[in-house]
Amino acid sequence: MNIVLFGPPGAGKGTQAALLVQRLGMFQISTGDLFRENLKNKTKLGIEAKTFLDKGELVPDSVTVSMVEDVLAKLGGKKFILDGFPRNLSQAKSLESILMNLKLKVGKAVFLKAPYKALLGRLTGRRVCKNCGTVFHIDFSPPKQAGVCDKCGQKTIYQRDDDKESVIENRLKTYEESTLPLVEYYRKTGIY
Ligand code: AMP
Repeated sequence: MNIVLFGPPGAGKGTQAALLVQRLGMFQISTGDLFRENLKNKTKLGIEAKTFLDKGELVPDSVTVSMVEDVLAKLGGKKFILDGFPRNLSQAKSLESILMNLKLKVGKAVFLKAPYKALLGRLTGRRVCKNCGTVFHIDFSPPKQAGVCDKCGQKTIYQRDDDKESVIENRLKTYEESTLPLVEYYRKTGIY
């Protein structure tokens, strides 16, 4: 079954998606990761997305939707988890028509949530390995050796710019305004 995972930043979408990948061999499509990868490689898409990521705002739908469409079109029958897409109603509707064209279906839309204080604590304490993407937390799961990734051994652990408090507030506001209405949307479609 194909799955949409949605919820506020810090709810654990990436963590749960990674577990599903491990256990069920599904393909994870994380729009946040795709943007960061493009940013790292200084592609046109990455440069376009940068200002929005820096401010904690959504990258325009035109850019985001075609990026996801490209990935979905190349899946070749693999089951997928959408992690962080759709993030607003217009993206959800675009997803429906993309999937219809590709003769694909989402079986469940799973909403992950956590109390505001927990989200804030998880986001401000989150550290990520720039090399392999492994996620740490300064209190809950620190690396064995400070600054060194347990998985790949590189000294590439960093704090995402948008995990700083000044940006987090905006990300949570964007979530409430744009993403939360998806709960109702998916309830109505019957896959919530
Ligand atoms: P994430 O890694 O899911 O927290 O996403 C990081 C940032 O990438 C977000 O704050 C947005 O700027 C951008 N982003 C990720 N997914 C989307 C999306 N579906 N639509 C627009 N922007 C997105």
